[in-house]
Amino acid sequence: AVEVGGDDKEVVKEYFNNSGFQRWKKIYGETEDVNTVQKDIRLGHSKTVENVMKMLLDEGPIGGITVCDAGCGTGCLSIPLAKEGAIVSASDISAAMVAEAQAKAKEQLAGKDVMPKFEVRDLESLDGKYDTVICLDVLIHYPQRELFPGPSKATRAYLHAEADVERALNKVGWKIRKRGLITTQFYFARLVEAVPA
Ligand code: SAM
Repeated sequence: AVEVGGDDKEVVKEYFNNSGFQRWKKIYGETEDVNTVQKDIRLGHSKTVENVMKMLLDEGPIGGITVCDAGCGTGCLSIPLAKEGAIVSASDISAAMVAEAQAKAKEQLAGKDVMPKFEVRDLESLDGKYDTVICLDVLIHYPQRELFPGPSKATRAYLHAEADVERALNKVGWKIRKRGLITTQFYFARLVEAVPA
């Protein structure tokens, strides 16, 4: 379970419905009006998406498996998952993000019977059973309170040490099966796949 603080959550929601929406829609899009840093982040993030797809597909075809994409943003991962035939439940705290993801999916999945189910929802409110749950580039927006009490409000990016994530997963009976590291000049991400221990 992920617990995220009320104040942080409201700020994050506001951000991703307004300036953050404009910024990330551009970074996750294909247009040329991005600066060098944004272009680099776009590249890094697309590598992360490729990596996730590979991690899943290495286990076999994903047609018909249920996937929850928590914090789906503009659908960068939900859409390729659906293209492979996965049954995708995609949600995000930001209505603007969900609307954009929906529009992109309509365009890119036209004629295919694999439209993800999109919902405006906070990840803490999600329920249901899925073969796979994915949460990509979302947790960085929340502090790990017990480790960093009173985090600075100026920078809204919080890094979580891989060991802490692993400990939290182990505590609830999960173990890490695969790991990935994606780095470009201005972007880096650690990817972990956890399965019941
Ligand atoms: N996962 C997507 C991807 O990798 O393309 C989007 C990543 S974007 C940097 C972070 C997303 O997390 C935003 O769309 C934001 O609205 C969403 N988000 C942040 N906090 C959330 C929460 N508590 N519940 C659901 N979504 C949240």
